[in-house]
Amino acid sequence: MRAVTFQEPGRVEVSEVAAPRLSGPDEAIVKVEACAVCGSDLHIYHGRVKIEPGFTIGHEFVGAVTEVGAGVTRVAVGDRVLGCFQTACGTCRQCLRGDYHRCERSRTFGHGAAMGDLQGSQAEQVLVPNADITLRRVPEGMDAATAIFAGDVMGTGYHAIASSGMRPGDTVAVLGLGPVGLCAVQAARAAGAAQVLAVDSVPERLTMAQSFGATALDLDGVDVKKAVRAATGGRGVDVAVDAVGDPRALELAISLARAAGEVVALGVYAERCELHMGLLWIKGLTMHTGLANVIAHVDPVLDMLSAGALDPSRLITHRMTLDDAPEAYALYDRREALKILLEP
Ligand SMILES: [Zn+2]
Ligand SMILES: [Zn+2]
Repeated sequence: MRAVTFQEPGRVEVSEVAAPRLSGPDEAIVKVEACAVCGSDLHIYHGRVKIEPGFTIGHEFVGAVTEVGAGVTRVAVGDRVLGCFQTACGTCRQCLRGDYHRCERSRTFGHGAAMGDLQGSQAEQVLVPNADITLRRVPEGMDAATAIFAGDVMGTGYHAIASSGMRPGDTVAVLGLGPVGLCAVQAARAAGAAQVLAVDSVPERLTMAQSFGATALDLDGVDVKKAVRAATGGRGVDVAVDAVGDPRALELAISLARAAGEVVALGVYAERCELHMGLLWIKGLTMHTGLANVIAHVDPVLDMLSAGALDPSRLITHRMTLDDAPEAYALYDRREALKILLEP
């Protein structure tokens, strides 16, 4: 079968690889209808996240179940399903507390040997371990361009708001309006935020956030701290989300949060970074970090997508075929696309 494989930094290719085969009773095989290119795929593309040459990339997918192991009970052959970006065992200490994102036996699709040695979903077929936990049936009538968001990007935006303890009537600032930041804007509005202040410097992204009900603040043209003070009676925001994963965005989030407010470091951090701990301490801020618990959120997110309370499908700016993957990665790398859907 065809699959998108990492070759070397800056180069992916469409390769002929062995089709997956069931090896355990908890597994399923899914014939991919659509997969997507994600910001974390770019970390691999750039060589920042190291994976083996020839490894299949991708972790977002919608498709049809073609085979299941004897122990799979929640999905069946013929079901149209979406996958979460990582698997969880369901039986370890963290899983039993609902912390699926930190499962002791978790494996992430398309991230090489270091993250569970699980081949990715930018392929004609994908092998899915722990299928009962990792897969969900796509609600009747929902298109792939909507459903695919539940397994990663919208689940992550939703997590920012759910983990922050945001209450209806709160004011939220979202820093960084990539797909995850824009999903956090939608999730905050859907959860009843009175105001969402959306910060970025890319005009199209600011316009998109505005169309989702946010107030756009252009980093290049506006004094963001001043604008946030003006919008909150001088208090600062109840919840500030760093959807970038950059110390400067985190520093700004800390300064925008009100006393005893919440800061969410949603973007990825892998290295040491400097923070004004005194400011965090004196303001009495609570900081939330880490991977999003997408498996725990996937059912409510699907319900909200079904009800139209969340609608991220407009974030898809390009639809291409699997064979166009090298071009898709180059486009995405040049920041010319927000979200790209690949169809095998
Ligand atoms: Zn992703
Ligand atoms: Zn587990």
